[in-house]
Amino acid sequence: MAFQGENNRWGAGPRFGGQTILLVEDSRMFSAVLSHRFHAELGLNTKTCASLKSLREVLAQDGEAYTIAIVDLTLPDSPYGEALDCTMENGIPAIVFTATFDIATRNRIMERSVVDYVLKDSEFALDTLVAAVRRAMTNRKTRVLVVDDVASARQLLVELLKAQQYMVVEASSGEEALSALQTYGDIELVVTDHHMPDMSGYELTRRIRKRFGSDRLRIIGVSSSSDRMLSASFLKAGASDFLYRPFGAEELQCRIANNIETLTQLKQLRAAAARDYLTGLYNRRYFYDLGPKLVTDCLRQKAVCSVAILDIDHFKRLNDTYGHEIGDTVLKAVADRLATIFDGSDNLLSRLGGEEFAILFPMMDSIAATKLCDEIRSDISRMTVTADDEDLSVTISIGVAEISAHETFDNYLNAADQFLYMAKHKGRNLVYSDAKLTGEAAQ
Ligand code: GH3
Ligand code: MG
Ligand code: MG
Repeated sequence: MAFQGENNRWGAGPRFGGQTILLVEDSRMFSAVLSHRFHAELGLNTKTCASLKSLREVLAQDGEAYTIAIVDLTLPDSPYGEALDCTMENGIPAIVFTATFDIATRNRIMERSVVDYVLKDSEFALDTLVAAVRRAMTNRKTRVLVVDDVASARQLLVELLKAQQYMVVEASSGEEALSALQTYGDIELVVTDHHMPDMSGYELTRRIRKRFGSDRLRIIGVSSSSDRMLSASFLKAGASDFLYRPFGAEELQCRIANNIETLTQLKQLRAAAARDYLTGLYNRRYFYDLGPKLVTDCLRQKAVCSVAILDIDHFKRLNDTYGHEIGDTVLKAVADRLATIFDGSDNLLSRLGGEEFAILFPMMDSIAATKLCDEIRSDISRMTVTADDEDLSVTISIGVAEISAHETFDNYLNAADQFLYMAKHKGRNLVYSDAKLTGEAAQ
């Protein structure tokens, strides 16, 4: 299920581990700093070439598939961008990194459908280049829908977007666009023309907005219309941006990049808002948001599920004895252990607050959930946490309740809480549930 492991617990930016990029650059200083930053910030490996000769040797020798090349236009043995030709001939998408720039150079670069170009013109050049690489790597995982009834106009947009590494889907009418959005659930951006036979871009925008908010999907209108009110109409209908044709490639590129960046930031905010700051686990809000949906899914399938509340025993005493900081260390250790146990599973784990955690077990009855919780209880009781040169250990008590009929979500948690209370009352380091009570009564 998508909610577990969808991103790492601490919500760091995207990383692209395992991929290698090619850096063609004669400045050793730039190469050293960039290789380090690509690895540290993006998880990318870098192969460096300081000349055209070395680039040719590298490409001839190793069978490595380079995701992207960063190419300096002026190298000692190739002053006219020959290295760029070489990477392009080898089918490696390129970002140009150059100190020499004028309009002729710009045209020469853009003719070759490069991913982007970055100028070495300020102390921020390296930051800009790292950002350009991050963007290109992100684009490779971003799906864009291009809508235009005129094939040549559509093609122009598609080529520009493909050069920037986007995954592109095409539609030649409004209806086709709507069905493409059905087919591909992961389209994040729509670039649409206005004048189309079956539906105007404006109408398409309105129809898309009924289903997708601007926090999930961005829409950019493009038109060669001379109606200067058209841009305002599009924006009022819910478009995120608008461009009049003809536009410069870089203008479209920047506007698209800004929109994708906004989506990325919203995603990061959503991810952060769902997490607990201390432990990195999902928080109470997320548990109460997703939990009821998972329960409804189960009940609709005529299946049962279970919910558990787990509480650290005598945690106040631990805080009072060792201090709050060590209390935090122990709390994090318990959270880490739970996260490891549930990593990749369909169960929803969260920190409800304080030293209390909740777990929802979809499709699991109380007998199975009780058994699993008892294993967890036993596992935690054997764990030691080293803090201040001391080996500390804690125990936990757990209450488990089965969910088999529609009630409020609070009711389910209250039931689990009552079993937790029994576990505490019976001496702690115990699991209590309806299944356990039934078992005890039978003995
Ligand atoms: P019981 O076995 O009955 O659960 O006893 P307890 O001491 O664990 O329970 P109680 O609810 O009396 O105390 C919980 C303590 O947890 C009190 C509070 O200061 C501490 N606590 C809550 N949140 C945090 C936290 O984020 N960090 C630390 N270090 N302590 C916390
Ligand atoms: Mg407690
Ligand atoms: Mg408590």
